[in-house]
This record gives sequence, structure tokens and C-alpha cells, in this order.
Amino acid sequence: MIKLKENVYQLNIDDFEVGKSQTKLVEFPSFYGLQKVQAPVYVYRAGQKISPCVVVTACIHGDETNGIRIAQSLMLKKLKLSQGTLIILPVVNIYGFMNKLRYLPDRKDLNRCFPGHPKGSFGSRFADFIFQNITRYGDVFIDLHSGGPGRFNVPQIRCDLKTQGIKELIEAISIPLVVNSSLRDGSLRQAISDLNKPCIVFEGGEGLRVDETITKYGVNLVQSIMAKLEMIPAKSKYIKDKVIIKKTKWVRAHEAGILINKAHRGKVVKKEEVVGELRDINGKLITRIKMEHDGVILGISQSAMIMAGDALYNLGFLKESPKDEDEEFFDYFDFET
Ligand SMILES: [Zn+2]
Repeated sequence: MIKLKENVYQLNIDDFEVGKSQTKLVEFPSFYGLQKVQAPVYVYRAGQKISPCVVVTACIHGDETNGIRIAQSLMLKKLKLSQGTLIILPVVNIYGFMNKLRYLPDRKDLNRCFPGHPKGSFGSRFADFIFQNITRYGDVFIDLHSGGPGRFNVPQIRCDLKTQGIKELIEAISIPLVVNSSLRDGSLRQAISDLNKPCIVFEGGEGLRVDETITKYGVNLVQSIMAKLEMIPAKSKYIKDKVIIKKTKWVRAHEAGILINKAHRGKVVKKEEVVGELRDINGKLITRIKMEHDGVILGISQSAMIMAGDALYNLGFLKESPKDEDEEFFDYFDFET
């Protein structure tokens, strides 16, 4: 029997020419021992010195296609690195991607399997394979995600502000909305944080879709981090003060019905503000959906057909932000205009 380790790719930076970008199709674990599986790996090494090395991962959830598009856009850009290395894995969970599914073939969520183990379940072995390859060289990690199919997330960063080096990075990034959380959940972010290295999760867009506005946010994010590490020239200065969100909550439907959304994505809302309606099949109003707290709408259900208990609006609590910042924040995320 061939072990996972023996027939899969081991990233060796010396296989890549210095001074230019290269994308290779490399061997991932096979499908059921029948079908070879290959996935792209991009490496751009500026010089002999590998550090600072930025690693971008996308599509850890196989249906989160906007991350692939961000990765593609970076790979196709004519970047000129003055130092360091950029590594991009545009389709990490290629098995889920081929089936339009979030999960791995063993129904595991890859982002609950890190750092993984070479003798664990398939999910755990695959997580170990990815983790060993990307942490061999990486100094700073950016993991690209989106909402699931039918859920749109406004561009936001998720990170643990307690991790070494994160605060300095956050000041320099292009996205002002930062959700601070220190999860113990088996995510790539947690496993990287445990190595005391910064890992920033980008959330933006909707599963199985590509939104080019979201793509721009993602590309700018990666470039702002590379500029901070002096790998590329800084294009523009970004707002240094970030809006830190310490708590998020899904507002759920109390009743079933057809959802008519009235809120902009990223809208700053007040407690009791009406953001949508549920109507019955004849159009009669069932209920108005009110916000239970002050906050910002981070995500919205894109489906109109709602069952009682369905998640409708993901609300980020803004309580600790000064009031005068809210207006600027609203304009920044007003996608609908
Ligand atoms: Zn995801």
C-alpha cells in the first residue's frame, strides 16, 4: 500500500528559479487510489534569501470560489518582488472543489483538522500534508474564505490580536473591519497561531460565486501585507485605525416566509432598526426583522425562502467604537451604490 506521504508533493523552494514567478501542477493525494489528483502551486522567490515569506491559501472549503479568483488574480499580476517569497495555493481542498462541496471526501471540514497528523483520518493526514508544506517556509499566512453558498460576507479580517506580530500587520492592511477571535477549533489560523506566526483570515463574498469587488479587496489585502514586509512598493496608505469587532451573532428568523431584505451589505444599524420583512405566499406581512443590538451587518442570507430558525443577518457588535467612526465605516462598505 502506498502511504499518503510517499506519493504526494513535498514543497522544495530550490525547485523554483530565483527572480521569477512559476506555477506548477503538483501531486495531491489520489482519489480512491484510482485517479491522480493535481493542484496548482505558485512560487515567486525574489532572491536567495527566502524570508520574508508570505503564504496565501484559498479554497480550504471547496465551494469558496472567490478565494480562488483572488489567488488567480495575484498569480496573473506582473508583480516585481524586491525581496522575500510569495507562495500561493489557489485550490487547497481540490476534492471539495471538484464536487462543489465545502468538505473533504471523508465528510470532514478541513478547517477543523489542522495541524493534522500523518497517522490520523484522511482529513487529518491531508491537513498535515498541507500544513507541513506551507509552514516549511512561511512567515506570514493569509487564508482566503467566503460565506457559504447563499450567504454573502462583506470583506473582513479575522485574526487573534494576541498572536505575535498581528497588531503591527493589522495597522498596515487595506481592510478596516477586523473581527478579533481566539478560537480553539482546529482551523489553519489556530494551528499557525500556535507556531507563534501571524495568520490572517480574509472573509468576503459568497460560496460558488465570484464577485470582482470582493476579488479587489482580497488582492489589495495581500498586496498591503507584502508592502508592509517591503516585498513590493506601498501603493497607498490605508486607514490605520481599524474597527475591532469582538463579538458576532447571527440574527435568525423567528418564523418562516419569503425574505425581503431592506439593508445594505455592511450597513451600520441601530438596535430596533428594521432591516427586512418576512411575507407569506400571498404577500401578506408576517413580521418585520429588527436588529437586536447596535452593530454592522457583516453577512446576509442571499436566499429569499426562509424556514424558522434560518440565519438571516450576521451582526458584528460595534459597542466599543467611537460613534463618529460609524459614518465613515458605513460609506466604506456601502456596496449597493
Ligand atoms: Zn471557509
